Amino acid sequence: MIPRSRKTIFHIDVNAAFLSWSAVKRLKEAPGSVDLRTIPSAVAGDIEERRGVITAKSIPAKKYGVETGEPVVKALAKCPELVIVKSDFETYRRYSASLMKILKTYSPTVEQASIDEAYMDMTGTEAIFEAEGDDEPFPMNAATRIKNEIRNTLGFTVNIGISSNKLLAKMVSDFEKPDRIHTLYPEEIGEKLWPLPIARLYGCGEATAAKLNALDVRTIGDAAHMDESILRAHLGERAGRYIYHSANGMDDSSVSGAREETKGYSHETTLPKDVTAENYEPEVPRIVHAISEKLSERLKADGVFASTVAIQIKTDRFVRHSRQMQLPDSTNSAEKIEEIATLLLKRLLFGEQGMFSRNVKIRLIGVSVTKLDRGEFRQMSMFDFMKPAKRARRMQGTP
Ligand SMILES: [Mg+2]
Repeated sequence: MIPRSRKTIFHIDVNAAFLSWSAVKRLKEAPGSVDLRTIPSAVAGDIEERRGVITAKSIPAKKYGVETGEPVVKALAKCPELVIVKSDFETYRRYSASLMKILKTYSPTVEQASIDEAYMDMTGTEAIFEAEGDDEPFPMNAATRIKNEIRNTLGFTVNIGISSNKLLAKMVSDFEKPDRIHTLYPEEIGEKLWPLPIARLYGCGEATAAKLNALDVRTIGDAAHMDESILRAHLGERAGRYIYHSANGMDDSSVSGAREETKGYSHETTLPKDVTAENYEPEVPRIVHAISEKLSERLKADGVFASTVAIQIKTDRFVRHSRQMQLPDSTNSAEKIEEIATLLLKRLLFGEQGMFSRNVKIRLIGVSVTKLDRGEFRQMSMFDFMKPAKRARRMQGTP
């Protein structure tokens, strides 16, 4: 008997999302053309320049050893007939939105985790599916319906992981692909989770895996059977606790359908004394620098990137003005924020049309960053993938 208090959590993950979405779009535009998913193919950020890296690959490409995160040139050396298409974020955003829309018709509690992933709390929806007379028992019937509706109406496939918590649902959706449903309930972890190498544990980075290997912890099961205090002593309090609990399949975070995404960050400073063209330097650049650093830290701490930078000023007559600029790529860099903020301030204040030419004084300066994303909409560049491919795979939003 499954205890009543047990939750039913789904993790939905689009199979090779960028590649599938590019393939589906292509088929729609040219019906009867070759389906990219059936041939060795890959998505890359920057094909012409040959500097690009592979951001998604087809299953046939995988058979040639093509890896996510590797340079296009290297992938082509492994597989000369590899068909490469350029990433198309507008299309990806559209399919992502269509996917979420379908999911929300099955549960009120859907949490989008990245461009191609979501958690659903399906607890309590059993009666709805039973009433419809499906052959399979709940929750299999629900997962089958969701998976098939996505495939039939949107044209791409997903894997669904089912468990009683988010961690296990997430881990099991990564098992055999594509178009599959897997379960990983706490009573199944000995058989399905513990034999896996420790590096496969969600949230176990390479450095942690290396430390654990040195302790002769090779599998997730090895970690689960360690003394928690030993793990804490070697990995630090937080990491040790996390590894021990997650290796044992424990996770009590909830699917938050109501999660309010932060819209942006801003910071303002009242100047020690009113600023004119004469005393702009060095005070204002120093403040802009400090605020930019602060905003960058916030973005990094929350794992997000901003694509709009804005400045705000207040004059000595308490009138507010602001200017903003949209960036081609989102950023979390303090230098970039500072550069744009400085440019906007100079445009607003200096020159013939500038406010200083009208003898306006400034008493407050602010900088803000908005239009946040989790990094999935940035142009992928070599820089993003300088670390080994493993990190690339772990990167949220890099399907
Ligand atoms: Mg995916």
